[in-house]
Amino acid sequence: MKLLRELPKVDKFISHPVFEGLCTPLLTQIAREAIESLREAILKEEVSSVDEESLIQRVKNTYDAFFEPSLKPLINATGVILHTNMGRSLISECLLERAKPIICNYSNLEYNLQEGCRGERYEHVSGHLKNLLHVEDVLVVNNNAAAVFLILNTFAKNKEVVVSRGELVEIGGSFRIPEVMKQSGALLHEVGATNKTKPTDYANAISENTAMLMKVHQSNFAMEGFSEDVNYKTIKALAHKNGLIDYYDLGSGYIPKLPYNLGNREASLDEILACQPSLISFSGDKLFGSVQAGIIAGSKELIDALKKNQLLRMLRVDKITLSLLEESIKAYLKEEYEAIPTLWLLFQNVEDLTQRALRVRACVGEHYCDVVQSDTYMGGGTLPNRKFPTIALHIKGKASALEKKFREHYVIGRIENEQFLLDFRSLLPSVESQLIQTIKTVLDLK
Ligand SMILES: *Cc1c(COP(=O)(O)O)cnc(C)c1O
Repeated sequence: MKLLRELPKVDKFISHPVFEGLCTPLLTQIAREAIESLREAILKEEVSSVDEESLIQRVKNTYDAFFEPSLKPLINATGVILHTNMGRSLISECLLERAKPIICNYSNLEYNLQEGCRGERYEHVSGHLKNLLHVEDVLVVNNNAAAVFLILNTFAKNKEVVVSRGELVEIGGSFRIPEVMKQSGALLHEVGATNKTKPTDYANAISENTAMLMKVHQSNFAMEGFSEDVNYKTIKALAHKNGLIDYYDLGSGYIPKLPYNLGNREASLDEILACQPSLISFSGDKLFGSVQAGIIAGSKELIDALKKNQLLRMLRVDKITLSLLEESIKAYLKEEYEAIPTLWLLFQNVEDLTQRALRVRACVGEHYCDVVQSDTYMGGGTLPNRKFPTIALHIKGKASALEKKFREHYVIGRIENEQFLLDFRSLLPSVESQLIQTIKTVLDLK
C-alpha cells in the first residue's frame, strides 16, 4: 500500500504553523485519531489519495469544536415559562450582580464574624426566609427531591409513611415518589383509591409503626370527574391528634396570588402555612423563580433534627446557590417582582404582550408575520391543565422547516395548527432585538 506511506507522522504533523499555540496533548490526541481513521479508510480502499491540507483543517475544526461551550443560551419562544428542558426559572441580571461579590470572593459562608470562629452556612438565608414564610425555621438543600429524601430518611426510616394512592406521582425525569420513599428507608403505606381518598383512610392506616402523614402535590397531572382528596388541614389535624409528623411536599410553592385564577384549584402557600404544618418543602426553581434548591420550612425542633442527619452534607448547597437565593428572598420581601423573571413573565398582561409583538412585527415587516392570540401552560410540572392567554408572532411559511431553522439559530418556538409561532409569554424584552435579527436572518431579509 503505497498510500499508507504518505500518511503524516503525528509529531511532524502537529508542528504545522496552523497549530501554533494550541494545547499539545489534546492536539496530539485529535491528530492521532484523525490520521488513524484515514489509515483505516485507505485500508478499506475508500480513499485514493492523502490530502494533508484537508486533514489539517479537519483536525483544527475538531480542536476548535472541543472548546465550544456545550451549554448555549436559548431564546425560549415556546410560551412555556418554566420549561424543564431549558433550565426552568431564570435569574435576573440585577440579582446576579448583587450576588457577584459573594461568588467571586472569600466570604463568611461558614465563618462567624462576631466570634471569629466557625459559623453556620444555613443561617445566611434562614432569617429572611423565616420572615417571608412566617415559620419557626427553614433549611435549604440541593433540590426538592433532596428535601423529600432527607425528611423521609430522618423521620421515617423503617417506619410507615401514610400517603394517598392518588398522590404517588412520577414528576418527570423518572422521579417517582414511591421509589424515592423506598430508597430513603421509609415504608410506604398507601391508602385510598387512585381517584378517591377519604379522611378515614388515613385514620385507619395509623399504627404504632407510623411516623408520618404525607401529602404530595400532584404536580404534572390533574384529576377530573369523580375524584376526591383530603385537604392538608384535615391531615394536619389527624397527625397532631396522633402525635405524628405531617409533611406536605408542595412541589412548587409560590408567594403572590397568581393571575388568570391559576391558583384557584389548590390551597395557597399562605393557607397551608396558616395551618402551621410540621414540615413543608418546595422547589427553589419552579414558581418560586429562583435557583435550583429545595426549601424546607416548619418547626424548629424538626429542622434541628434534619440538620443532625449526616446526609445533609451530601445534599448541601454552595455559596452560589445561597447568595442568589438570598437575593431572591429579599426581592420578595421588597415586593420587587420585576427582579424575579418567572413572575414578571407570568404577570404580563395580554395588552402589553400584544404591543411587544406588534413592535417586533413592524421591525421585521408586516408581510412576513401576524400577531395571533393563543393559550399556553406554565410548565415545570406545575399547574397542570391550566391554560392561560398569550400572544404570539406567527411566522408565515412551512412550520416544520421554520421550526428547524429557528432552532439552528438557538430560537425555540412551537407549532400550533401547522403554524410556526414565536410566543411572547416566555420572552424577556432583553432578547427582543436578537429575536428580530434572527427572524430577518432566517427569512433572508435585509
Ligand atoms: C418537582 C417536584 C419534586 C422535585 O423537585 P426538584 O426541585 O425538581 O428536585 C418533588 N415533588 C413534587 C411534588 C414536585 O412537583
